[in-house]
Amino acid sequence: MTKEKLRVGILGATGAVGQKFIEVLDGHPWFEITALAASARSAGKRYAEAANWIGSSAIPPRIAGMEVVAAAPDLDADFVFSGLDSSAAGEIEPLFARAGYPVISNASNYRMAEDVPLLIPEVNPDHTGLIDFQDRGDGFIVTNPNCSTVGLVCALKPLFDRFGVDAAHVVTMQALSGAGYPGVSSLDALGNVVPYIAGEEDKVVTEPNKLLGRLTEGRIDPAALRISAQCTRAPVLEGHLEAVSVRFPGKVQAEDVKSALRAWRSPIADYGLPTAPARFIEVFEDARFPQPRRHVGLGRGMTVSVGRIRPCEVLDVKFIVLSHNTIRGAAGGAVLNAELLAKQGRLARRAY
Ligand code: NAP
Repeated sequence: MTKEKLRVGILGATGAVGQKFIEVLDGHPWFEITALAASARSAGKRYAEAANWIGSSAIPPRIAGMEVVAAAPDLDADFVFSGLDSSAAGEIEPLFARAGYPVISNASNYRMAEDVPLLIPEVNPDHTGLIDFQDRGDGFIVTNPNCSTVGLVCALKPLFDRFGVDAAHVVTMQALSGAGYPGVSSLDALGNVVPYIAGEEDKVVTEPNKLLGRLTEGRIDPAALRISAQCTRAPVLEGHLEAVSVRFPGKVQAEDVKSALRAWRSPIADYGLPTAPARFIEVFEDARFPQPRRHVGLGRGMTVSVGRIRPCEVLDVKFIVLSHNTIRGAAGGAVLNAELLAKQGRLARRAY
């Protein structure tokens, strides 16, 4: 899009999400990593020394030798991605916005703040308009949702647009990588399911109504879905699987759901965003699918898979959703947010 690449800083670059940012941005046509920031524990070290790299491919050589710096708002960057731990994001992200940096965050701290867009580009690209009403300095903060909210809302959006949705019940089976590194103890994780993830259910219940809400006069008028969530941690490396049942205001059959998911056209389909998958939602007919190990990588981790669409004996229709938690649900989602903002002319070279 731009001839000159935009310079990108990563806050929390050494963490699990920070590492995914590095993988997703490697060779990116619009963005180039110019700064890596983390805590005082890492600052001053070469990236390869500071990070406990858990990626399956090697650290890109240019990144391995870069020095990690403190997460202070004097980075050589036009905007920053934040993969900061939420204990640090609450304080650090506003400092960057105040200093003029657009902050594209994964952390949960500002997701539900009234002036901060909570974005999935295929779902609510117009919510970036909230930035015009944000008063946090010359920069701004934009967030992406919780990794379990993402799969649920991507599957609900075409149904919400076509039929309306009254209520949804969701049970998640979430991958271990969602807990960062080292995350869940092996003695809890191996051959087991942990039926509790602190703070998760509240996010899955509240965030969808903001995402599916309407931007009017500088605020989001939230949707009014009733959602019940039970979140569990399963012994899977990548990919959150969710069992979803939906109630509609009118009569909707399983076949209607299938055709609505297949026919739905993303509002950013023609934007040419490099990280957008060719197919936003993949609908499976084979009752064994989708499965995390087999399908999590579809669309380079950005496609959301839906299968087992059938009548629900209690609500109306039920199905299974799979989404990649550290790509679609974290770093890839945030990079797509940045691409949307760049396309809308909301990211530019910063003058020094
Ligand atoms: P993580 O592996 O624990 O990484 C945390 C990062 O924050 C590290 O780079 C750490 O630097 C840095 N940090 C911690 N305290 C800091 C401080 N005081 N100042 C500056 N940097 C500090 O966590 P994660 O799993 O990557 O998650 C990062 C964020 O993304 C969290 O807010 C999480 O809720 C959110 N998120 C995670 C996922 C997922 O699938 N993992 C999905 C969606 C959202 P050091 O290495 O120097 O300590």
